[in-house]
Amino acid sequence: MPDRRTARCQCEQLAITVSGEPTAVLACSCLACQRRTGSVLHVSATFPSRAIVEIHGEETLYARTSESEGVVTFHLCPTCGSTVYWYEGSGESEVGIAVGCFADPGFPAPTAAYHARAAHPWVGLPPGIERHDDG
Ligand SMILES: [Zn+2]
Ligand SMILES: [Zn+2]
Repeated sequence: MPDRRTARCQCEQLAITVSGEPTAVLACSCLACQRRTGSVLHVSATFPSRAIVEIHGEETLYARTSESEGVVTFHLCPTCGSTVYWYEGSGESEVGIAVGCFADPGFPAPTAAYHARAAHPWVGLPPGIERHDDG
Protein backbone atom coordinates (compact mmCIF):
# COMPACT_ATOMS: atom_id res chain seq x y z
CA MET A 1 0.00 0.00 0.00
CA PRO A 2 1.39 3.39 -0.91
CA ASP A 3 2.09 5.77 1.97
CA ARG A 4 0.97 8.77 -0.06
CA ARG A 5 -1.42 9.25 -2.91
CA THR A 6 -2.00 12.30 -5.12
CA ALA A 7 -5.29 13.11 -6.84
CA ARG A 8 -5.08 15.46 -9.82
CA CYS A 9 -7.53 17.15 -12.17
CA GLN A 10 -7.39 16.18 -15.83
CA CYS A 11 -4.95 18.99 -16.73
CA GLU A 12 -3.03 18.03 -13.56
CA GLN A 13 -2.47 21.57 -12.24
CA LEU A 14 -4.75 21.10 -9.19
CA ALA A 15 -3.49 18.36 -6.91
CA ILE A 16 -4.13 17.09 -3.40
CA THR A 17 -1.77 14.66 -1.71
CA VAL A 18 -2.93 12.55 1.24
CA SER A 19 -1.23 10.00 3.43
CA GLY A 20 -2.58 6.75 4.78
CA GLU A 21 -5.68 4.82 3.83
CA PRO A 22 -9.17 6.26 3.21
CA THR A 23 -11.68 5.91 6.04
CA ALA A 24 -14.43 5.20 3.48
CA VAL A 25 -14.77 4.55 -0.22
CA LEU A 26 -18.32 4.99 -1.49
CA ALA A 27 -20.13 4.92 -4.79
CA CYS A 28 -23.04 7.23 -5.53
CA SER A 29 -25.51 7.18 -8.39
CA CYS A 30 -27.53 10.26 -7.41
CA LEU A 31 -28.41 12.53 -10.31
CA ALA A 32 -26.40 15.44 -8.88
CA CYS A 33 -23.27 13.27 -8.84
CA GLN A 34 -24.04 12.09 -12.36
CA ARG A 35 -24.30 15.70 -13.56
CA ARG A 36 -21.23 16.82 -11.63
CA THR A 37 -18.94 14.10 -12.90
CA GLY A 38 -20.47 13.58 -16.32
CA SER A 39 -20.29 9.90 -15.45
CA VAL A 40 -23.07 7.54 -14.42
CA LEU A 41 -21.31 6.51 -11.21
CA HIS A 42 -19.37 8.69 -8.81
CA VAL A 43 -16.84 7.09 -6.45
CA SER A 44 -15.48 9.04 -3.51
CA ALA A 45 -12.77 8.42 -0.94
CA THR A 46 -12.96 10.03 2.48
CA PHE A 47 -9.81 10.93 4.41
CA PRO A 48 -9.42 12.75 7.71
CA SER A 49 -8.27 16.29 6.94
CA ARG A 50 -5.14 15.68 8.99
CA ALA A 51 -4.14 13.18 6.27
CA ILE A 52 -3.74 16.05 3.78
CA VAL A 53 -0.05 16.46 3.02
CA GLU A 54 -0.32 19.17 0.39
CA ILE A 55 -2.79 20.96 -1.87
CA HIS A 56 -1.56 23.03 -4.76
CA GLY A 57 -2.89 24.67 -7.89
CA GLU A 58 -5.61 27.12 -8.85
CA GLU A 59 -9.12 26.22 -7.81
CA THR A 60 -12.70 27.39 -8.04
CA LEU A 61 -15.26 26.62 -5.35
CA TYR A 62 -18.79 25.48 -6.02
CA ALA A 63 -21.22 24.80 -3.17
CA ARG A 64 -24.52 23.03 -3.37
CA THR A 65 -26.96 21.67 -0.82
CA SER A 66 -27.32 17.92 -0.86
CA GLU A 67 -30.23 16.04 0.72
CA SER A 68 -28.03 13.79 2.80
CA GLU A 69 -24.86 15.75 3.48
CA GLY A 70 -26.06 19.36 3.78
CA VAL A 71 -23.88 21.95 2.03
CA VAL A 72 -21.06 20.39 0.06
CA THR A 73 -18.27 22.68 -1.15
CA PHE A 74 -16.48 21.32 -4.20
CA HIS A 75 -12.97 22.39 -5.16
CA LEU A 76 -12.55 22.17 -8.88
CA CYS A 77 -10.00 23.13 -11.48
CA PRO A 78 -10.91 26.43 -13.19
CA THR A 79 -9.07 25.34 -16.35
CA CYS A 80 -10.28 21.80 -17.03
CA GLY A 81 -13.30 21.62 -14.71
CA SER A 82 -12.51 18.40 -12.84
CA THR A 83 -13.86 18.24 -9.30
CA VAL A 84 -10.90 17.01 -7.27
CA TYR A 85 -12.01 17.28 -3.63
CA TRP A 86 -14.74 18.65 -1.37
CA TYR A 87 -15.86 19.28 2.17
CA GLU A 88 -19.27 18.35 3.52
CA GLY A 89 -21.20 20.40 6.05
CA SER A 90 -19.73 23.25 8.01
CA GLY A 91 -16.68 21.42 9.33
CA GLU A 92 -13.54 20.49 7.48
CA SER A 93 -12.58 17.51 9.64
CA GLU A 94 -12.87 15.18 6.65
CA VAL A 95 -12.12 15.67 2.99
CA GLY A 96 -13.76 13.81 0.14
CA ILE A 97 -11.65 13.09 -2.93
CA ALA A 98 -12.81 11.87 -6.33
CA VAL A 99 -11.32 8.39 -6.71
CA GLY A 100 -10.93 8.81 -10.47
CA CYS A 101 -8.55 11.73 -9.88
CA PHE A 102 -6.04 9.33 -8.33
CA ALA A 103 -5.83 7.61 -11.75
CA ASP A 104 -5.02 4.41 -9.87
CA PRO A 105 -6.90 1.25 -10.84
CA GLY A 106 -5.46 -0.37 -7.70
CA PHE A 107 -7.31 2.05 -5.41
CA PRO A 108 -9.51 0.28 -2.80
CA ALA A 109 -12.98 -0.58 -4.13
CA PRO A 110 -16.13 1.04 -2.73
CA THR A 111 -17.77 -0.78 0.17
CA ALA A 112 -21.15 0.93 -0.08
CA ALA A 113 -23.31 2.28 -2.89
CA TYR A 114 -25.77 5.11 -2.37
CA HIS A 115 -28.76 6.23 -4.43
CA ALA A 116 -28.73 2.82 -6.11
CA ARG A 117 -32.31 3.46 -7.24
CA ALA A 118 -30.95 6.11 -9.63
CA ALA A 119 -28.23 3.82 -11.00
CA HIS A 120 -28.23 2.94 -14.68
CA PRO A 121 -29.41 -0.67 -14.74
CA TRP A 122 -26.30 -1.92 -16.57
CA VAL A 123 -23.90 -0.51 -13.96
CA GLY A 124 -22.46 -3.42 -12.00
CA LEU A 125 -21.42 -3.05 -8.38
CA PRO A 126 -18.89 -5.19 -6.50
CA PRO A 127 -20.38 -8.36 -4.98
CA GLY A 128 -21.28 -7.96 -1.33
CA ILE A 129 -21.36 -4.17 -1.47
CA GLU A 130 -23.66 -2.49 1.05
CA ARG A 131 -26.46 -1.13 -1.11
CA HIS A 132 -28.66 1.86 -0.24
CA ASP A 133 -31.51 2.69 -2.57
CA ASP A 134 -31.40 6.33 -1.53
CA GLY A 135 -28.89 8.53 0.32
ZN1 LIG B 1 -7.28 20.99 -14.40
ZN1 LIG C 1 -24.38 11.49 -5.18
